[in-house]
Amino acid sequence: MDLFSMRDFDGHERVVFGHDEVTGLRAIIAIHSTALGPAAGGCRMWPFATTAEAVTDVLRLSRGMSFKNALAGLPFGGGKAVIIAEPRQAKTAELFQAYGELVQSLGGTYITAEDVGTTTADMEQVSRATQFVSGLGRKPGEAGGDPAPKTALGVFLGLEAAVKFRMGRSDLEGLRVAVQGVGGVGYHLCRLLAAEGVELRVADVREASTVRVAEEFGASVVPVESVLAENVDVLAPCALGAVLNSKSVPTIKAAIVAGAANNQLAHESDGTALQQSGVLYAPDYVVNAGGIISVAREYNGGATEAGVTAEIQGIPERLTEIFERARREARPTNAVADQMARERIGRAAQVRHRGGWIAPTLAG
Ligand code: NAD
Repeated sequence: MDLFSMRDFDGHERVVFGHDEVTGLRAIIAIHSTALGPAAGGCRMWPFATTAEAVTDVLRLSRGMSFKNALAGLPFGGGKAVIIAEPRQAKTAELFQAYGELVQSLGGTYITAEDVGTTTADMEQVSRATQFVSGLGRKPGEAGGDPAPKTALGVFLGLEAAVKFRMGRSDLEGLRVAVQGVGGVGYHLCRLLAAEGVELRVADVREASTVRVAEEFGASVVPVESVLAENVDVLAPCALGAVLNSKSVPTIKAAIVAGAANNQLAHESDGTALQQSGVLYAPDYVVNAGGIISVAREYNGGATEAGVTAEIQGIPERLTEIFERARREARPTNAVADQMARERIGRAAQVRHRGGWIAPTLAG
């Protein structure tokens, strides 16, 4: 594995491997950019089959965080961590503390939080070894805590904006939406959509999760294998990445793709393929920024729930700007979003070279 020639290496500032013999920790932290501030992004726990697979994921995810934080207007760069382990078997307090020590060793250039496979409780353990962690249990009267409901709110508002742009409709009543993955975010997205009279079709590899949304929101359960090809108006991928690829894109019948999953496009060219098929793609890191907005404001302290919600309400406007620019320039929405993010990061990098932010100032 030659890191610097890997396809997903994008000028990342640091890639750090951590190992702890006693707890069995095997972790990788990738810092894509600190031009806008300390790199912020969650920690994923996943039983990657190979180290190369884990590196690919952490490179892609950390770059996505740079773009997400930049377009969300947050004073943070992009980073991400992966712990190579099966979350249902490997979790111990000691392992998360060892991970916290690894985060601490980076001196605040990376701030961690929960992601797929990790929870608020895990981050509480991490916080025993480092102050560079967010997404902890909510303190009375303050914003923060589990970011999933906030992410779902942003996706919901983004989906509404996409429906308005593509279908000219300002309500969602009777619309058919397929949700792939009804875990933390997918569940809350279903709740918001059901309240607007949406006809839900859901799929999840965990049966208990689909049973819950079927019972609570009247969703129909569809097979995991065919959910992406459902005959619906909107497809909301809320499971894992790379689901929009050369195999799946030609089968998509939805007019809009708007979901929470990170890195939905397997390759940039899949965004072009969606555009050519007339599918409006809401760039994932634009619509799923609600969680990091909450985590970032929690980290900085003093944020209120109402303030965080108001900030998330900025997502539809940003998304519509991307849609409009993509239409004007006849380009895929993902390419436009990437360019806008790179422009913002590039401007910040120039300022930094002239003596902008120097060291992390966010010790909590
Ligand atoms: P989660 O683990 O709680 O939920 C994911 C769900 O997807 C689980 O229920 C899982 O069983 C299901 N799933 C896995 N593989 C599947 C498959 N092949 N088909 C159908 N279902 C499948 O995770 P989450 O926190 O809800 O996050 C979902 C996605 O959104 C992830 O890609 C995550 O990176 C992204 N995201 C989450 C947040 C957040 O605040 N939690 C923020 C931004 C982005």
